[in-house]
Amino acid sequence: MTDMHNDAIPTLVMSGKANMATRNRVGNTDLPRLKEGGVGLQVFVLFCDGSYGPGNAFQYANQMADALDRMVRKHPDKIQYATTVADAVHLKAEGKIAALMAVEGGHMIENRMDYLEQLAGRGAKYLTLTWNNSTEWATSAADEMRGSRNFCGLTAFGRQVINKMNALGMMIDLSHAGEQTFYDTLRVTEKPVLVTHSNCYTLAPHYRNLKDDQIRAIGDNGGVIGINFYSGFVDSGYQDRLEKLLVKYQSRFDQLVKESSSNRMYAVRELLNELPPEEVLTIRPPLARLIDHIDHIVALVGIEHVGIGSDFDGAESYVRELDDVAAFPRLKGGLLARGYHERDIENIFNANFERVWKAHELNSM
Ligand SMILES: [Zn+2]
Repeated sequence: MTDMHNDAIPTLVMSGKANMATRNRVGNTDLPRLKEGGVGLQVFVLFCDGSYGPGNAFQYANQMADALDRMVRKHPDKIQYATTVADAVHLKAEGKIAALMAVEGGHMIENRMDYLEQLAGRGAKYLTLTWNNSTEWATSAADEMRGSRNFCGLTAFGRQVINKMNALGMMIDLSHAGEQTFYDTLRVTEKPVLVTHSNCYTLAPHYRNLKDDQIRAIGDNGGVIGINFYSGFVDSGYQDRLEKLLVKYQSRFDQLVKESSSNRMYAVRELLNELPPEEVLTIRPPLARLIDHIDHIVALVGIEHVGIGSDFDGAESYVRELDDVAAFPRLKGGLLARGYHERDIENIFNANFERVWKAHELNSM
């Protein structure tokens, strides 16, 4: 099992909320549950929001990388970095988890090509060009949606970033990117891209999801789309159900917003953790709805372009049955029940991501 997107480093490790070595009650991720979930390759992202920028974003990215290094080096019997696909396959065969580092948010390179090179040098395997905040060289989907930076796409420097990433063998992640940035990137890149944690707009209209033309473009590019487990990207009715729940528990929610320095997502997450699980379950979409997104991509462009990017520890709730990293076998069960064969599932769970990664290795020699 390969998961292209997990936020445990910024959310759990940097905040000191959890020790990854032991089974935790907080968060979705730790080493025992990764093992239980049959995860063979886990991409850990370094992430900070747009409140970081020139002067501190790159430094913080490095602090997160240090934290990931410490976690990996402390448990070599359970998890190790893979530098190549062959490494990852070897580690998996030994029953270990292959760890990959990635950077979510182009603002962490602070408009400096040498910072991009340094992050690639210390092991970052992909860069998500933007998070919800645009960079000076690439517009985000959130800003396009708000109309605050309407369809600007990539600047000349942005195109140089793409060329540099191709040369470094660093993969490009187009989740969070605006449509213009998305298409500009596909025009420039000579290698297949990733959309590590986004779903289908046709099934759940949300600016973070891909429209059918974008999915077809990923098919043409040879890239892979990682299905995101977050309830709000799977089912557009989720947001209304959530808002009703927040109104019901308004005073406690307001208190949690204050305690989390106005980070709404963390406050929602805390509240959902406190509520009876049966009540939270009523707002979460069924697993079958997530598999509908996989079916949709398969119908449009084929199974070669589907992967998994759970977004665990990056969102406040996920589809039913997928509670944490131990739950991947349930997804497999759902796919088998939907009529997918073992070899299809192997494509979705491992081979498709490995194909894109390999394309970067060969050309970067
Ligand atoms: Zn994200």
